[in-house]
Amino acid sequence: MDLGGKTAVITGSNSGIGLGIAQQFARAGADVVLNSFSNTDEDHALAADIARDFGVNAKYVQADMSKGDQCRQLIADAGRCDILVNNAGIQHVAALENFPPEKWDAIIAINLSSAFHTTAAALPAMREAGWGRVVNIASAHGLTASPFKSAYIAAKHGIIGLTKTTALETATDPITANAICPGYVLTPLVESQIPDTMKEYDMSREDVIKNVMLKRQPSKEFATVEQMGGTAAFLCSEFADQITGTAVSVDGGWTAL
Ligand code: NAD
Repeated sequence: MDLGGKTAVITGSNSGIGLGIAQQFARAGADVVLNSFSNTDEDHALAADIARDFGVNAKYVQADMSKGDQCRQLIADAGRCDILVNNAGIQHVAALENFPPEKWDAIIAINLSSAFHTTAAALPAMREAGWGRVVNIASAHGLTASPFKSAYIAAKHGIIGLTKTTALETATDPITANAICPGYVLTPLVESQIPDTMKEYDMSREDVIKNVMLKRQPSKEFATVEQMGGTAAFLCSEFADQITGTAVSVDGGWTAL
């Protein structure tokens, strides 16, 4: 995969899947723009590490993806955005009746509305450049549901719809828009929902991993951030020029059930 000469902006990329995608893109020669809402020395060091390890340009841009204006400012501050990966995401696990409204609003804002804002801001320059890629990180939970994750599942179903509309509105340009639907990947986001899931199901940590998370993943293995990065890089390659508007599952067979 050769992404030399391209600049990729990856939202929510100081951790987990976003960082894995940034590293795979850099390995393929792309310049990368990392992002999160924080602004620490560690955040900037991640970009410096990528620049050093892969010989590309890399920078870190702080922007809070729960705020529409900051989503749009991220694209402006990136300087260039040939590839946009909408990856920032949070989770909250609670029964519908007890689901805190502020958590609902935050999840819809970060996991769904941010992609509307960044995509709207990035498309004009992609059209002008005559090339562009939008990769939205959805979830197996964009195609199917589980109890206690109402906001997340609504947002992830929503982002697959947004992906399809983006694909149709760019279909005659050399721009594609696709979603990746990971199954469970053992990142900080998944780690953080283990305690609440233990509470909801009254189970031990081992039982939550085995009997709740990987129960629906027929491979019985977590997917990896490297696999997400490789899939995203493929979707940005010339082999994927005619792949647009799809949701690619990387879930060990979960959604085949
Ligand atoms: P993670 O917690 O490691 O990463 C989430 C990233 O989003 C972090 O970089 C975090 O800083 C960033 N973020 C959170 N709030 C933000 C905000 N307001 N502004 C900017 N950045 C913000 O989790 P992850 O598992 O790597 O998740 C990445 C994406 O993959 C999410 O969209 C998630 O829904 C999706 N996903 C994850 C899994 C999984 O099993 N880990 C499965 C399916 C989908």
